Amino acid sequence: MAVPTRLAGHGLRHEGRHWTAAGYVSGGMAPGVCECGAKSPELPSAAARKQWHRDHKADIRAGGDGRVWQGVTS
Ligand SMILES: [Zn+2]
Repeated sequence: MAVPTRLAGHGLRHEGRHWTAAGYVSGGMAPGVCECGAKSPELPSAAARKQWHRDHKADIRAGGDGRVWQGVTS
């Protein structure tokens, strides 16, 4: 059975790419940001941000508050 990748209200902003006011940036540390306002720690790549977002949605589906990885970098 396919795992749903979409969850209403939980889109990954900028598809996990590193976004600044000046536009997309290649490389560099940046947090993943979800439509719901959740933010990951600073992560080194879009792939890492996408992984965080998958974990975030999985936690919400499991009944959690989606605050995965909290405290990892602080
Ligand atoms: Zn979310």
